[in-house]
Amino acid sequence: MKNLLTRYLMLLLAVGCSPVEKEETEKPPNILFIMTDDHAKNAMSIYSDKLIQTPNLDRIGKEGIVFNRSYVTNSICGPSRAVFLTGKYSHVNGFRHNYDEFDSANMTYPKILRKNGYYTSVIGKWHLKSVPAGFDYWNVLIDQGDYYNPTLVEMGDTIDHVGYSTTVITDLAIETLKNKIPKDQPFCLMVQHKAPHRNWMPDTTHLALGEKVYPVPDNFYDEYENRQAAAEQDQSISRMFMSMDMKLDVDRVVETGSGGGPEGFDAVKNWKRNYERLTEEQRSRWDEYYDPISDAFFDKKLTGKELLQWKYQRYINDYLKCIISVDENVGRLLDYLEKTGELDNTLIVYTSDQGFYLGEHGWYDKRFMYEESFGMPMVMRYPKLIKPGSVNNDLVMNLDFAPTVMDLVGIETEELWQGQSLLPLMKGEEVTEWRDGVYYHYYEYPFGWHKVKRHYGMRTDRYKLIHFYNDIDKWELYDLVEDPNEMNNIYEEAEPELVVELTKRLDELQNQYGDISEE
Ligand code: CA
Repeated sequence: MKNLLTRYLMLLLAVGCSPVEKEETEKPPNILFIMTDDHAKNAMSIYSDKLIQTPNLDRIGKEGIVFNRSYVTNSICGPSRAVFLTGKYSHVNGFRHNYDEFDSANMTYPKILRKNGYYTSVIGKWHLKSVPAGFDYWNVLIDQGDYYNPTLVEMGDTIDHVGYSTTVITDLAIETLKNKIPKDQPFCLMVQHKAPHRNWMPDTTHLALGEKVYPVPDNFYDEYENRQAAAEQDQSISRMFMSMDMKLDVDRVVETGSGGGPEGFDAVKNWKRNYERLTEEQRSRWDEYYDPISDAFFDKKLTGKELLQWKYQRYINDYLKCIISVDENVGRLLDYLEKTGELDNTLIVYTSDQGFYLGEHGWYDKRFMYEESFGMPMVMRYPKLIKPGSVNNDLVMNLDFAPTVMDLVGIETEELWQGQSLLPLMKGEEVTEWRDGVYYHYYEYPFGWHKVKRHYGMRTDRYKLIHFYNDIDKWELYDLVEDPNEMNNIYEEAEPELVVELTKRLDELQNQYGDISEE
């Protein structure tokens, strides 16, 4: 064992304890970081119980802390992962959008942990294109990965697995805990799921839950008045693909919406590829469930609002079933740690690379700085520091995770983190100096999916100011107390003093983070 454990032992000797007696309780904390892809807070019952019950995910927060206002700096998959790893904004770590590649020379918290005696590993979705760096062991999906029978690359070797991705990744995580991680080393294990990413293919085990009818959000029929960027996006549920999104019989489908895809994307071909991956047994269970849905759809010939409602229900039913599998598998992982006595010596984090729209504004997907995709779930459990039942309402970010880990483990580095350690908030300390504004910047336009225009902005406790640029020049301002659903852009009608004050604060944040050009 290297530096950290030596330091812990020296500390124990200094206070006169026997290291043999105390080693079990005083060894450095393990870190289990569980991240899903596109999990909306509204689909986790510790935040909202309107749609789903997630007892295992909630357990982490109930026995630890729930962050009610946790945000990403850039609401898109690869870039958010890079921010978690580096503790730096996209313009600093160089991964601005999903067409970039993560520079593995970036300093990351797993690299630092590894240098300090931790066994570091990552299992599941990586999505940063470059080969994982800073890990003793890695076993990751190729690019987006597949829901069924996924192929993973284990330390350079490509291996096909049979089964459902959320279960396969959890099995591999448990196997890593059991057989890979040396017992005398603290570990950092990152378990990163594909679910519940589009195209929301549930485990056949959960199909028996059937189709339920869910309430649509209040602003489902939003007409985007006074919000040009919102009006010109391409992520409306109305335009989802009938094949890969709705799971209709591929031979009977005529695609009418674009599904938000870039030019040349072939949804039918994509859906056929997904379907053909199923084993014979999986396919027969799949057909048994989806064939009658398809038949009923083609019989009914729905149009207008009825068709839109049907699409919403179809989408949300599959999406939520994917989360049930996440919840059950996180439960398995917690049970394993409990059984092996590591549960209370492990910082357990559950989060997502960003949030998602579940029909709010009529949308799916993410990208916008509006609350549903700007925010993400974040709960943590570590009973040695966090009092069970803790609730935090400060403005926290994915940017804060790397410095938090350093602080928790007690490593001092020269690294210039752009986030702040959450440790005082986790301990429930009185914190008088905390950030009063969250800065955001999204870049993936005009290329790529969904046509969400480039924008940057800032939210304070009460207000949100956004500037959409590139092929437009539009400002939006929301009063989140009066208008939590962000339907009423008050930029033109607000008191000029308020606009000046918020614009000044936005400028200050851009200077603070060194993001001074519109690119
Ligand atoms: Ca994502």
